Amino acid sequence: MSETSQLCPKCDGDGYQVYKDGAVAVAARCTCQTTCPVCQGSGFDVKKDAEGQRVAFRCRCRGLDGRIDLFNNANIPAKFANKHIDDIETGGNPSMRAMKQRFLAYRDSYQRGQAGFVLWGLPGVGKTHLLCGLLSWLTLERGISCRYVDFMQLLFDLKQGYSEGRWESDTVVPLLNADVLVIDELGKGRNSEWELAVLDELISHRYNSEKTLHGTSNYPPTTQKGAQAQGPFMEGGIRAPTTLSDRLGDRIYSRINEMCHVLEARGEDYRQGKNKAGRPHSGLKS
Ligand SMILES: [Zn+2]
Ligand SMILES: [Zn+2]
Repeated sequence: MSETSQLCPKCDGDGYQVYKDGAVAVAARCTCQTTCPVCQGSGFDVKKDAEGQRVAFRCRCRGLDGRIDLFNNANIPAKFANKHIDDIETGGNPSMRAMKQRFLAYRDSYQRGQAGFVLWGLPGVGKTHLLCGLLSWLTLERGISCRYVDFMQLLFDLKQGYSEGRWESDTVVPLLNADVLVIDELGKGRNSEWELAVLDELISHRYNSEKTLHGTSNYPPTTQKGAQAQGPFMEGGIRAPTTLSDRLGDRIYSRINEMCHVLEARGEDYRQGKNKAGRPHSGLKS
């Protein structure tokens, strides 16, 4: 963004706007983009450097349509349209503040194939908000292909694809090919042997092609650390008898653990997790 140019009040110079369209979030070119107000179509944004010299930078309008397409293929739920990492409320919670900082650094430095995050904890602490904010940024600002899927929807899609003999189908291919995949609510549902076999295949495929995986879960990862004391979580604060590794099985869980940093997203009881250095407990990555 050029400091010398007038920023469009509708898009704040981003060049796109995000809307809700039914169940999903969609992006479109802002009306200001008929002719880019920054570069007037030249593709170069001329700014002054520290010495006051005029330097031409690549204007951020370049590739705008491609980035908008990436966003529109990411399948981000309408509920998370215009939800950014920046605006997540951390209150007086140092654990969530640390998590937010970690996500802000990650979104700017992310490289294809980098390890992702599995955020676990109570519903409502902002797990999906963080990950959808990340997908919005990676698509619209970084031009990286991303895909969001809810775990129950994923099982349904995989089942549809399989029963119709369409593993390499329109349903499954985007889940395999996106550089970044977010699976929301890992471990929910019945997790039958068949469903898990298919999930295993999907995750193995991404593992072998070195593609980034992220997820959320209401279940604690294992019983080894805190699960007994904290209790596994479900909707309404009801305790479930199992952990994420129980629900997904050792094989899938250990793959996830290799591909992702498994972090606890803490609500109000964050104090219990402070380590000796006084820094907030930052997860269970082993
Ligand atoms: Zn605009
Ligand atoms: Zn431009």
